[in-house]
Amino acid sequence: MPIRFFNTYSRQLEEFETRDTASRSPRDEPGRPADKIDIYTCGPTVYSRAHIGNFRAYVFEDLLQRHLELRGYRVHRVMNITDVDDKTIRGAREAKIPLSKFTEPFKHAFFEDIDTLRIKRADDFPSATDQRYIDKMIEMIAALISRGLAYQADDQSVYYRISKFPNYGKLAHFDLTQLQPTGRVKNDEYDKEHIGDFALWKAWDEEDGDVKWDSPWGPGRPGWHIECSAMATAILGDQIDIHCGGVDNIFPHHEAEIAQTEGVTGKRFVCYWLHCAHLLVDGQKMSKSLGNFYTLPDVLERGYSGREIRYALMRVHYRAPLNFTWEGMEEARQALGRIDEWIMRLEEKSQEENAQRSTSNVEPPMQRFEAALDDDLNISGALGVLFDGIRDSNRALDEQTMDSAAAHRWLQWWSRIDRVLAVTETRAGIPDEIVALAEARAQARLAKDWRKSDELRDELMARGWEARDTKDGQKITKRSGS
Ligand SMILES: [Zn+2]
Repeated sequence: MPIRFFNTYSRQLEEFETRDTASRSPRDEPGRPADKIDIYTCGPTVYSRAHIGNFRAYVFEDLLQRHLELRGYRVHRVMNITDVDDKTIRGAREAKIPLSKFTEPFKHAFFEDIDTLRIKRADDFPSATDQRYIDKMIEMIAALISRGLAYQADDQSVYYRISKFPNYGKLAHFDLTQLQPTGRVKNDEYDKEHIGDFALWKAWDEEDGDVKWDSPWGPGRPGWHIECSAMATAILGDQIDIHCGGVDNIFPHHEAEIAQTEGVTGKRFVCYWLHCAHLLVDGQKMSKSLGNFYTLPDVLERGYSGREIRYALMRVHYRAPLNFTWEGMEEARQALGRIDEWIMRLEEKSQEENAQRSTSNVEPPMQRFEAALDDDLNISGALGVLFDGIRDSNRALDEQTMDSAAAHRWLQWWSRIDRVLAVTETRAGIPDEIVALAEARAQARLAKDWRKSDELRDELMARGWEARDTKDGQKITKRSGS
């Protein structure tokens, strides 16, 4: 069965085809390099520590990437860091420190959290304030103005003219005429032509302090939406395979990304739009006032590990709302405990030197785990396959009908599955985030990305761990004296 995804744009399950495949002629030979998939994922706005609802989306994106890689694709994923917007500027002003000083610790915390959750690091983490992306944003805005798709208003800000982009509202299935007053609308805040026009460039005002960049329209800063269009196309090109985010990103953020990018390039921006549903806590929307607002350290403080939280966030289908509860965390712990015990039994069995042959025909259900995930990442189906396998093989172990070779096959089956789940108990004493960094470094070395490999080695060093490369692979040890 081919891979299928639910595309928000068409509101349909669609067979997944990469742009690579679509452009290849039928005569292409086998043995060619694997298809490449470009994925853009909206990242954090670094004005506070991210909450577990944010991480639900990032865990889903990690599952997507790992599954596609298991299926043999080469994934290039970009995740942006929004380090300039209304919220970050307000935070810096209130703390009376420069913007970059204010956002720095939140960037750091974000990387710490994704490592704890064993989320693979993206290939690129562009920051919106990087001058090369600011330049790209300005270039795109200028192109939109020259095409009549944007205009500078009396308040000096530049806005997107949504009435000139016929597809505006297609992604959100949003009928513009519903809120469409004709002619010029005077709005308290803005001097825009249409109430739905959104800012591409925000003219500087006193509240912005020293946060400003020069532009052909005067000093100011970019709007949030153009940041993503510019960073996505600067790194991945005019067209990308998959764009992900949470459902709350659909409108206006992703709708605006389409209007901006396609307005400039004239090409279809994204082939598949995948959106992750909300996370609820005890059946309610998470909010600080309800006291049900959790960051990752809040959950770790209750004694749960990164892999337990990862499992709890991953086990529900990404398009269904996930209800986070402490009972759910306990269930995650039990499920992982079952897996750990099963692996231990298989390892013991696989090391037995017995001549006894299997008398049971219980074999790992190869491919069935992946096949479930092929169906729009049906994780419940995939976990069902796993736990059925655990039950059947445990029974064969109980009945002494499995031999060491069969145990070995089951372990191989598991190691394939765990490339996607990434929940194996690590060697005692090495924290999850260190293991994740080490894994990222091993991958960087495989890709011959020495710069990244060195950066990760330095980061491990800074956290008190040493990475040594031996003929048996990378070895991680605690640095003496730390
Ligand atoms: Zn975005």
